Amino acid sequence: MLASRTFRRALLPGARCASSFSVGDHPYALAAALGGAGKKRGFVVTDPGSGAVVASDPCLDPLAAFLRDGAACPDYLRHEGLFFEVGARSGALCGAFLWNTARGAAGGGIRMIPYNSIQTYVVDGLRLATGMGRKSALTGLWHGGGKGVIAQPDGERHLTDAAFRRSIFEDYGDFVTGLRGCYVAAEDSGVHVADMDVVFSRCRFTTCISPELGGSGNPSVPTAAGVAMGMEGAVHFQEQQAAAAAGAGAAAPSARPLEGKSIAVQGVGNVGRPLIGFLLEAGAARVVGADISEAHVALAQAEHAAAIADGRVALRVSAAGDDSILAEDVDIVSPCAWGGVINPTTAPTIRAGVVCGAANAQLLDPADDCGLTARGVLYVPDFAANPMGIVNCANEAYGRVGALGTTEDPMIADRLGRDYEFSVYNSALKVLRLAAAEGISTAEAANSLADELCTRTHPIFGHRSQEIMDSLVAGDWAEGPL
Ligand code: NAD
Repeated sequence: MLASRTFRRALLPGARCASSFSVGDHPYALAAALGGAGKKRGFVVTDPGSGAVVASDPCLDPLAAFLRDGAACPDYLRHEGLFFEVGARSGALCGAFLWNTARGAAGGGIRMIPYNSIQTYVVDGLRLATGMGRKSALTGLWHGGGKGVIAQPDGERHLTDAAFRRSIFEDYGDFVTGLRGCYVAAEDSGVHVADMDVVFSRCRFTTCISPELGGSGNPSVPTAAGVAMGMEGAVHFQEQQAAAAAGAGAAAPSARPLEGKSIAVQGVGNVGRPLIGFLLEAGAARVVGADISEAHVALAQAEHAAAIADGRVALRVSAAGDDSILAEDVDIVSPCAWGGVINPTTAPTIRAGVVCGAANAQLLDPADDCGLTARGVLYVPDFAANPMGIVNCANEAYGRVGALGTTEDPMIADRLGRDYEFSVYNSALKVLRLAAAEGISTAEAANSLADELCTRTHPIFGHRSQEIMDSLVAGDWAEGPL
């Protein structure tokens, strides 16, 4: 239960704020509201008993009201806690969003991008935290779902002034230290390993630090290998469906399901580029790739020059907004660029039987696969296909077996194989089978499987992160920093 402090605050009559905000305001209006109340920190938490949404200070009541309004904020799914701190050095608005920590400390990357409103800032944090929790659960990690979000300060100073940038991540490290381990940070958009090293200089609850400091290095190659295994799962499901339709018994899965397949890859960046290599190794007959970056296409061309010469790979530069790569006449399309690419414009153009890629949040509307399932297109939901990035870093504190970025580590190898229950291959199969059996979309099936796993508490630590949050709420955390 939340401690009495929260409820005493909630019951105080006539509490006033020096500076209020609406969720449509710029994110830094939230920082100003905290400042107006004489605070550097604040939280909005869900009481685990009653489900009440409670703010640490009246100045955060507009945010609590937004979360309570299901129609305005469908992405609030009883998130356990939203914590905010205004950086003492940088003034940056640091946030940590914790969805469900039954399986362990909330794990998820820190994102630093511009937001035009408190609403977009908060919704991004809520949505990403849920997605991380589901992703970790489906891949068998004992971690909960969380996300760090720094509202990027206006202007270019975070890029041009190294000392200022450093101060942002020192502040973020102090913030995470203050959260006492209920959130464990990682790297995400707008944040680099060098920034994570700065976080690490102020805080032990982080991953994605430099290999020289014991970190796990670039996750993109394992992520690409995982996407290829998700494709294998989907192709096996197709084979099983075809056998069943023909009245044949269950066929043994083919050893090389991608042999002879044609695949279109949108985005040949950190993940798309090695993915092409894995597809060629798996026997793909033809891979076409498109990227809006000439430089990234040139890199991929250099890496796959031999396969381009023998006609197995073709790469092109596409114009921004040109999603025609998704409409290629191929067996599989693989979105490996940005989110929102499956939308009412693109989905009807998809001719492939399988969609399986690394990009996060591929469905523009998370609740709508725009008719893919209805048309028999097998969409492997992003978080079922791309978990290897978090697998690569999540257990950094438990050490590493073998060389970086290889399958010497059983943590990695198991999830890239076919035997382990929570491998990417088996996740894809489980999701596709459940969707077919229940007549639901694959996105719904993946959420349902993951949400069930998220009800299981950590076998050793129980729901310890909730206890940590309770202690923050009951204690003086919001009166801090330390
Ligand atoms: P990246 O920035 O290295 O590559 C993305 C590429 O997509 C870039 O080359 C970019 O130019 C290109 N691109 C953007 N819009 C495009 C468009 N409309 N058409 C064609 N190309 C376009 O990023 P990445 O690390 O390769 O990640 C790719 C996606 O996978 C992202 O959505 C990321 O969030 C997700 N993801 C990555 C990892 C990882 O380990 N890197 C893990 C999980 C999820």
